[in-house]
Parts: sequence; C-alpha cells; structure tokens
Amino acid sequence: MPRQLVKTHIALIGCVCLCLLGYLSWFESQAQQASAQTARLDFDSPDSLAVVVNKTRPLADPAYIPAELHDAGGVLLRPEAAGAFGQLSAEAAAAGVGITAVSGYRTAADQAHIHESYSASYGAPTADGISARAGHSEHQTGLAVDIGNADGSCALEPCFETTPAGAWAAANAHRYGFVIRYPAGATTITGFAYEPWHLRFVGTELAAELHETGQTLEEFAGFPPAPSY
Ligand SMILES: [Zn+2]
Repeated sequence: MPRQLVKTHIALIGCVCLCLLGYLSWFESQAQQASAQTARLDFDSPDSLAVVVNKTRPLADPAYIPAELHDAGGVLLRPEAAGAFGQLSAEAAAAGVGITAVSGYRTAADQAHIHESYSASYGAPTADGISARAGHSEHQTGLAVDIGNADGSCALEPCFETTPAGAWAAANAHRYGFVIRYPAGATTITGFAYEPWHLRFVGTELAAELHETGQTLEEFAGFPPAPSY
C-alpha cells in the first residue's frame, strides 16, 4: 500500500475513533443529566408537583388538603395547575376546541364517596379499576383535572380520545405541563384503565419528558408497577 494511502487510512480511523469517543461522552452526559433530574424531583411529598400517588403509594398524609386552591373553569386546582389549565383551555378555544373542566380537587371524603358508589353499582373489583380509594387519588393533590367536551360527548369514556377535546389534549396538554396520567396499555403499571380525560399537572419540563418518552410517572421515577392495592 502506498505510504500516502496508509497515512490517510490512519487519519480516517483516528477521526472515527474521536467521533465515537465524542458521541459516547455526549451520551454519558445526557444520561447523567437525566438521572440528576430524576434525583432532583420530589416524588413523595403531596405538595410536590412530581408526587407519585397510586395504589401502592398512598398520600403521605391521608387527610392531605392543598394549602391553596384556585378556580379553574368551575373546579378547584392548585394555583400552578389552575393557571396552566386556564392557558390550555384558552388556547384550545382559540383553535376552535371547547375544553371544559369536569372534576378537579376532591377531598378524601369526596373520593371515598365516589369509590363507594362505584363499588355499590359495579362491585369492588370493577370500582378499583376505574376509581381510586380515598388517600390514593391524584384528585386529592389538586393537580389532576378530568376534562370534557363542551357538548359533553364521550364524557369519561375511552371514546373521549377521538373527540376534539380528547385529540387536542393528547397532542398539546404537555405544552402546559399536563400529561395523560393513565395512558392506553399501561393499566398493569398505573393500576387504572385508560383515561384520556384525566390530566395530571407535573410542570412543563417533566410533562415534555414524559410526552416524548411515552413513559408513565411510575416508569420515569423508577417505581415498581402498581396494578393493585
Ligand atoms: Zn380523574
């Protein structure tokens, strides 16, 4: 092989190695940033926007009441969530999509009442799949809102995803800090049936991350699946 060609080959190999090293260190720093973000978030305190409440993680205080609640289209939410919901519904309306707030903050007693009434109507196993027991509901944090269409179509039903409000929320809610907390196909992780109407406020940074990766809060936080109590 001519000497010049050998030199070119060596230079090329060196270049590839440098690129690979550069990519690996970039990849490592991205992974470190992601785990640093996970470590920074508080998944335990009911006051945290990142709190993870599910069937195996009840609220630390079963009688928790948010310090402040604001009106958000006729329901009550924590101030951060109420402000974001106001922006979300205003922008949806500007795009010709009417989004209403059907249910927001619920007290532990409200939640117990809902669960008992579902249990009486459908039996306990079905009730557990569609509503949380008291102390295990995101609605008690003041960070969850059930949304609906202005005309009430497909209210609290899986077909909500095909309605204007459902489709708009699925595509845009993360821009306002909300995620669809109980996605389709994740019942064995979240413990709840698909609820395209149940939006959970987590802040724009975490919402963007969850929207992009398709992860549930449990997966993102590294918690085990919570299919049952
Ligand atoms: Zn809900």
